[in-house]
This record gives sequence, C-alpha cells and structure tokens, in this order.
Amino acid sequence: MSGGVPADPLRYLAGYPAQALDQVRALLQQPDGLATVLRRRYPEPHGVRSDRALYDYVAELKAEYLRQAPQVERVVFDSKLQLVHQALGLHRSMARVQGSKLKAKREIRIAALFRDAPPEFLRMIAVHELAHLKEADHDRAFYRLCEYMEPRYHQYEFDVRLYLAHLDAAGGRLWQPAA
Ligand SMILES: [Zn+2]
Repeated sequence: MSGGVPADPLRYLAGYPAQALDQVRALLQQPDGLATVLRRRYPEPHGVRSDRALYDYVAELKAEYLRQAPQVERVVFDSKLQLVHQALGLHRSMARVQGSKLKAKREIRIAALFRDAPPEFLRMIAVHELAHLKEADHDRAFYRLCEYMEPRYHQYEFDVRLYLAHLDAAGGRLWQPAA
C-alpha cells in the first residue's frame, strides 16, 4: 500500500454481495456505526486469556468434532499476526527432521486481537484453524467442516471481517478483558 493513502476497510469484505457492502459503507460513514452494531450483537468478551487456556479451549473443540484429525501440539495467541491477510489465523504444518524420522509438528497461531473479543469470534477463528487440520484449502469441503463445527460460522466470519474493517477505519478495540 502506498504511504499516506488510507486503506479501504472494505478490502476485508471482498467477495460479499454488493448489498451487504453498501450497508457496511453506510455504517462506516456514521460515527461509531460499526461499533454500535457489533457491540449490540456481541456484548461480552470471552474469558480465554492465556495460551494455556487457549490450548485447552481448542483441544476441547477438537475432541468434540475432530477426534480423528492429527494432534495439535501448540496453540498460541500471536501478537505479531496483525496484518490483514493474517488476521484469520495461520495454519502451519512444519516438517521437522528428528534423526532419520520426519515428524509433522502442528501448531495453531491465533492473532492476539482475538484475545479481546467476544466468544463467537474466538470460536469462529478456532473452528477455522481446526478445519485446516483436515482441509488445506478454502474450498467447499473446508467450509462444510467449519459449519459442522459451528452452524453460524459464516455469520461470525462476516462479523469478524466487520470488526477488522472497523479497526482499519481507525476505530478502537471494542472489547476489554472481563474484570
Ligand atoms: Zn484459512
């Protein structure tokens, strides 16, 4: 992106229907427009604060829906994942050579902005990353798996993108950790 030119917050919503984008554009023009909508829809933050708690949270989801999928060794909040294209998480399957054996180490890194977020957003991102244990691409099978784990997956992903647009439009964080 060239310096000085404000980025278009709607870039997070590329591919959504024009009508939805018009509504978002209108909300972006009102002060606190997106913030008001998001706070009303998602009033409370979740309570998953540490990497350990995050690991347990993801492990529980996996045990419920993806018992057969490969083991996840590590799950962390990553404060370096701030770029837009990374905001929906990063899935890695790193090959590590151990002696003569090749061992796959799987880790899930979740952008730190999801630490201060409602439970629905954390669930959406966790479901997304878990689905990648079985499906590498963002194809039909991938989204079917996401919906199996969370029937409202698509709504939540859209709203996460709304939040990214809100942040990109210089709106502040909307959720603080529960006291
Ligand atoms: Zn993905």
